[in-house]
Amino acid sequence: MLTKTPKQCWEEFAQFMEDCCTATEFQNWIAPIKVCANSKEELILEVPNIFVQEYLLENFQKQLENFLPLKANGKLALSFEIASPKKKTTPAQSKPTSQPTQETNTSILNSGYTFEHFIEGPSNQFVKSAAFGIGMSPGKSYNPLFIHGGVGLGKTHLLHAIGHYVKQHHKRMKVHCITTEQFINDLVGHLRSKSMDKMKRFYRSLDVLLVDDIQFLENRLNFEEEFCNMFEALINQNKQIVITCDKPPGQLKLSERMIARMEWGLVANVGVPDLETRVAIIQHKAEQKGIKISHRVAFFIAERIFNNVRQLEGALNRLTAYSRMMGIDVTEEIVESTMSELFQKAPHKRVSVDNILKSVAVMFGVRVSEICGSSRAKNVAFPRQVAMYLAKEMINDSLIKLAASFGGKTHSTLLHAWKKISKQLGTDEMLRRQIQMARRNLES
Ligand code: ADP
Ligand code: MG
Repeated sequence: MLTKTPKQCWEEFAQFMEDCCTATEFQNWIAPIKVCANSKEELILEVPNIFVQEYLLENFQKQLENFLPLKANGKLALSFEIASPKKKTTPAQSKPTSQPTQETNTSILNSGYTFEHFIEGPSNQFVKSAAFGIGMSPGKSYNPLFIHGGVGLGKTHLLHAIGHYVKQHHKRMKVHCITTEQFINDLVGHLRSKSMDKMKRFYRSLDVLLVDDIQFLENRLNFEEEFCNMFEALINQNKQIVITCDKPPGQLKLSERMIARMEWGLVANVGVPDLETRVAIIQHKAEQKGIKISHRVAFFIAERIFNNVRQLEGALNRLTAYSRMMGIDVTEEIVESTMSELFQKAPHKRVSVDNILKSVAVMFGVRVSEICGSSRAKNVAFPRQVAMYLAKEMINDSLIKLAASFGGKTHSTLLHAWKKISKQLGTDEMLRRQIQMARRNLES
């Protein structure tokens, strides 16, 4: 049972999302959604295509849960209808195929997504230097470069940065940047107007092809094959391909052939930035926007928004608007009052070292007493370091106090553990998932 009208529910959610995502993202994914039938039981949304639905569920499930009640069966009071093709003559959203001429999309790169504006840290150094290498000599190093990582961690940013760099430094090269969705739209359009040859010619004439969000190719068998053919044609001519994805190739539900192709070159992960990097990102973005924030304020924000750079940016946007409107400097109090919703769960308040110890002990199959003991055996020392990492990340207390809760360890032991795990998170997918899981358990 909805507590508000469907329209209100949706508008509140959309408004919230506007702050959390980039304008482009909002335009692509949120704005095209309409509220349809007037049900009191659940929110029924009309989406232009299945991608939009999946994108929403995959990326914003948590946020949706904050705005919508659950049904009696425990599921979210939300359902979807795909817009009927009669209303829209194209099966998919947005401009690409609605253009009457079947010109292939010209690629538009976000002007802010350059290497200069990409802040490096342990979680993204490797992928950044791989991307930069590609920018310097496309087609000559790794091919393809496959960039994967969670939402809002800078994959699209890096992809566009390569595009900008190549355009600037290799003026003769033809660069094309496209989302997988646009690619499919393009394909559908050309199939319909029987101009596939033209599309093939266009793609084969490229020097650098940048493809964003390849996960949308999952379950699209026909398109997958077409993509794979084009992919091979380009690679065989040493044309550079860069692909981004929300997961590593092996986890994609795609054909073995396709997965093998994507693993051909270099697979690089972009991870969640550590606290220091997050602070640097906030400061850099603030500078770009021309607002002044102190290191303390940047730190204050970075400590509270930890797993998504896009949300950091959202927070900053809101702050900018507020400080301009009020003509005041930004202090921690102001940050807290303007952005309390963004600091989602304020986990620091509820999570205790005890909870962390229990959760980590279960996860690694060791005893809490062992974690708090002094054994240096790897099967104990590692969980201990993970628990210390979580304590420092999730609990807002002095290191000395935190360390003492681990059976009287010193703050430098805790700091060492935190550094080690932070570093390892940059390269260890499995650990990252474990930590994410632990976090989720602890916060819920
Ligand atoms: P993804 O494609 O991985 O979902 P994006 O590339 O769209 O994420 O990044 C989301 C936002 O975060 C963008 O505005 C981007 O500029 C910013 N961002 C992410 N990582 C960094 C970074 N390391 N330095 C600066 N900005 C970053
Ligand atoms: Mg992206």
